[in-house]
Parts: sequence; C-alpha cells; structure tokens
Amino acid sequence: MKSMPDETPRHLLDLTLQDLVQWLADKGQPAFRAKQIWNWVYQRRVRDFQEMSDLSKPLRELLATNFKLWTCSLFEHQKSVDGTEKLLIDLKDGGRVECVLLRDGPRRSICVSSQVGCAMGCVFCASGLDGVDRNLTQGEILEQMLQLQHLLPENERLSHIVMMGMGEPLANLDRVVGALEIARSPLGLGISPRRITISTVGLPPAIDRLAKHETPFQLAISLHAPNDELRNRLVPTNAKTGIESIMAAAERYFRSTGRRLTFEYVLLAGINDTIDCARELVQLLRGKTSMLNVIPYNSVVGLPYETPSATIIHAFRKTLVDGGINVMFRQRKGDGIEAACGQLRRKRQTPIQTSEP
Ligand code: SAH
Repeated sequence: MKSMPDETPRHLLDLTLQDLVQWLADKGQPAFRAKQIWNWVYQRRVRDFQEMSDLSKPLRELLATNFKLWTCSLFEHQKSVDGTEKLLIDLKDGGRVECVLLRDGPRRSICVSSQVGCAMGCVFCASGLDGVDRNLTQGEILEQMLQLQHLLPENERLSHIVMMGMGEPLANLDRVVGALEIARSPLGLGISPRRITISTVGLPPAIDRLAKHETPFQLAISLHAPNDELRNRLVPTNAKTGIESIMAAAERYFRSTGRRLTFEYVLLAGINDTIDCARELVQLLRGKTSMLNVIPYNSVVGLPYETPSATIIHAFRKTLVDGGINVMFRQRKGDGIEAACGQLRRKRQTPIQTSEP
C-alpha cells in the first residue's frame, strides 16, 4: 500500500458507496471494506479513521492520507429549553451555514441547509437577505447531518430530515439528492424517504426532475399566498413561475411518486392572514391530496413582519378547517435560539455593540 496521497485529500462524504468501492478496488481492497467504512461513519459515529478498529492499520493510514472526514468547524452551538439545538457551522472557504436538531416526543428531526445564503429573496426570510454565495457540496450537506447526529446519545437515532435550512434545495438538486440518497440508504443513515422532506419555493422544471428520480422523497412547497398578486410580493421568483404552473408541477409530482404533498404557509400579520386569504386557499387546495402546514412567523431583526395574534390565527384556521382542508398548525420550536432559517447567521454578521455585556 502506498502512503503518498493520490491528490489533495477528498471529502469522504462526497463519495457514493460505489465510488468508495472503486477507490478501494484500485488499491487492491475488497468491496466489503466500503461497507465497513460507511458503517463506522454513518452508524457508529466515529470522528477519526483511527477508530475504525476492524480495518488494518495500513488501510486506516491510507484512508487518512487520501480523505478528510470533516471539512467544517463548529462556530456556535445553541440549546433551547425545549430540546432544540442549533449549530452554526463554518465551511472551509469561510462561508457559514446553520442546521437544527428538533426533539418532539420520540422524533429526532433535523433541518439542514443546502446553500450558503439563498437567491430566492423571499421578503420575510433572513437567509436570502444577502443573496446566495454558493451551493453546498454533497459532503457539506451530509456533514451537517452527522454533526447533528453526534449530539444524540448512542441509543437514539435521527428519525426525520427536512431540507428547510438555508438555501433553495432544488437550485442545488444533484448535491441535495446525492446527500439524501446516503441519508436514506440502509447502509448510510437508514432514514426512510417517507421521513425525508425537500422544501422548495416552487421551481417547476426542478420539481419535474425530482419526480423522475427513483427515490420518492416528500415534497413541501412554500406557498405563503393563495394568489399571484400577493405571492409576487412575498416570493419574488413567483413573478416568473406563477402559482398555476407550480400547482401543476406539484400535481405531476404527486402522480408519479404517490407522495402526499405538503404546502407551507408562513402567517404574516396583516399580510396573508385575512379570512379572504383563507377562503382563497380553500379554493386552491380543495380536492388535492395534500397537507397545509401553517407556520407561525419567527421574527427577523431588521424586517418589519410579525406573527398574527392568537385570535386572527384561530379565525384563519377555522376557515380552513370548515372548508375541508387538511391543515396543521405547526408549533414554534427553538424560541430564544434564532431557529428560523438564516436568523442566527444573520445575527452573528452584525457587529457586536460595545454596550452589550
Ligand atoms: N427555500 C426552501 C427551503 C428553505 S426555507 C423553501 O422556500 O421552501 C423553509 C421554510 O421556512 C419555507 O417555507 C420558508 O418560507 C420558511 N421561513 C423562512 N423564514 C422564516 C421565518 N422567519 N419564520 C418562519 N418561517 C420561515
């Protein structure tokens, strides 16, 4: 076995199992070694090649010379009293992303970023305020998942993944799907694709591409408004797409995957929380096999939007329920730790005032 590296060390998490089998074959190693390595990384949560005790020492050395397991570093770790934990992660080129672990009964859900920043420009969202810097690599997406998994005690497993962190996952589709394939593989994180959700602002051509992918992941569409006039104001990309073409793509996705669709709706006081909006939503969603997820707004420093009062939320909900819509009002999690996407990163960008303790 040579100890000189092939080239600059690669991120091990960028490799599919097949890539790793191939690399090992080139070194005269049997294919089952790849499964052993994956088992250590994705299931047994090791931090170092040296801990892979069923591999020979020379093979461990060879791996350590040619691969990096970790490329990021932890900038900040916040914990909320409700069990939510948030990591602010520094990428090797200086970019920064957020990811979150949510505890809810037996569920251990993680919310993961797909890009540094976001190009979609939704007016109420902290992630896109400075645009997008770049797509994350497959390895960087998986690294967030593993860092969050490492927060769990040994007897607990990650149960759900939502691609609802920073960025637009469908604008980085290949890398997101590459990472999620490893997340759902029984040899990887072993999370059923029924428990993996890709959330999108609604990009019809990319939804169609995802529909052709062999694994049917759950799809969530961030609607936020029941008509184009309002949606164009909240979600700038809507001016090019329009709700109708998004609904048509969503319907095609449902038909080809059989997965019930989720629509997301962030309630913004005085903007999209009227009874008229709720009635229009009923018209738009009636008869569709879908779930409407209504999300209370997490306020963002510097932005003028607010969560509606309990009375308004109640009336909005009643209109939807009376209209026969399958609706879920999500509870806010992670209060006190800036858990909405992009919030924490934004906060850490602002220079700390000298008067702060
Ligand atoms: N770009 C994708 C995924 C990331 S955002 C998308 O648009 O779906 C995930 C969800 O969080 C979206 O529905 C988004 O609109 C919502 N969101 C963004 N900022 C929020 C905030 N401050 N409070 C509540 N939800 C927010």
